[in-house]
Amino acid sequence: MKSEKTKDLGLAAIYLERAMKEQGCPICRRVREAEERWIWNVLYELTGDPEIHERFSSSFGLCREHAALAAKVVETRELVTPTGVARLYETAVEKALAELVGFRGRKGLTRGECPLCEVAREAEDRESWFLGKLLADAEFWAAYERSDGLCLPHFFSVWSRSPVEVRPKLRLDFEKRLSGLLERLRELQRKERFDVDEPLTPEEIESWREALWRLGGMNYSDPLIKRD
Ligand SMILES: [Zn+2]
Ligand SMILES: [Zn+2]
Repeated sequence: MKSEKTKDLGLAAIYLERAMKEQGCPICRRVREAEERWIWNVLYELTGDPEIHERFSSSFGLCREHAALAAKVVETRELVTPTGVARLYETAVEKALAELVGFRGRKGLTRGECPLCEVAREAEDRESWFLGKLLADAEFWAAYERSDGLCLPHFFSVWSRSPVEVRPKLRLDFEKRLSGLLERLRELQRKERFDVDEPLTPEEIESWREALWRLGGMNYSDPLIKRD
């Protein structure tokens, strides 16, 4: 009988392989998908759930970044509506109002962690662990090498969770990606000078964008999941 872990690893391989075919860091993508899925699930079927209400009121709703993502999901996805958000936030607004009674301004509100930040952290842990484990497989490694590779924060999170035999080659691969990027950033500046008449490659033209996500992580303006 296959253990749950092996089954989970098989599924993770499918999703990570898919993410590696897309642009940018695959862990960023998997985390973002987990965030969108959570928002959709909560708004679709859990707006009456007492535990969710409790979490939403202890954190006074979502953090700024996740609140913006929730707005986009509501605006673009079917089956989730503004009334779901209204229902969830009703409790949080009531709690904020109650806290104001007797407020003397000596200390600010004690705010619990944004529930979606917690979901994102768990997804990052889980996906980093899976990817580290999968990279021990030669075929998977080859697919990883062909992909855009990791962002700096996720390089560290995968590296620290991967089996020891994976670590040296993972570091070497990341070094190669960074030195390639450095070269392209320099070429972009050099070839943009008025006295240099050499064409830029598409990779050099895009290098400044790559630097932004490579060091800081991916930023997606639109929801990644269009429908369930
Ligand atoms: Zn990333
Ligand atoms: Zn958050």
